[in-house]
Amino acid sequence: MRLRKGLSSLIFGKKEGFEMVKILDKKVAEVKARELYNLLFDTTRAIWNMNFETDLEEILDVLSIEKVEGELSGEMKKAFEALGRDDVSGFLMKENETYTIFVNMNEPIYRQRFTIAHEIGHFILKHLEGEEISISFRDEHSKTGSDPKEVAANSFASELLMPREIVEHLFMMSGSVSSVAKEMGVSAMSAEFRLRKLGLIS
Ligand SMILES: [Zn+2]
Repeated sequence: MRLRKGLSSLIFGKKEGFEMVKILDKKVAEVKARELYNLLFDTTRAIWNMNFETDLEEILDVLSIEKVEGELSGEMKKAFEALGRDDVSGFLMKENETYTIFVNMNEPIYRQRFTIAHEIGHFILKHLEGEEISISFRDEHSKTGSDPKEVAANSFASELLMPREIVEHLFMMSGSVSSVAKEMGVSAMSAEFRLRKLGLIS
């Protein structure tokens, strides 16, 4: 019950009536990611159980988002190639109110996880309002990018995958960026970016 109430206020806003405005602010995106994390998990318990990876399957389940892992092939591949892209990491698609995240299974696991978290971001931040599909390309995660939706989805993903307390704990224990990355199931670059943002490294 608490979960359902929490989720609906997270997705639809706290007031009566739905707020269907796209969220483009990085800071708000981070707050939303942390709200989502807190609804389902607990950093103290995660640290105690040494469960450092955010359980994305659980989040997809609760949000009723389907996940499809696959390779780009056939018509899909042709369609993307026609757009001049063969570097699709994944996308979020809406079809009759059903949401599906496609993940390119040929990419490393940590990148697949970032893609999923990024697409969950587009969902929670309502970036698909008035659109049917949002596509992530491989280069998008590493560059700062200029599209505010992409920047916000990346901030969301970073916050969702790397809650502050867990990052602090792991870094305090190991003092190593790569160890934080490995334990949390993210790339070394994402971990480094996060540690810098939290002021743990300069
Ligand atoms: Zn995106």
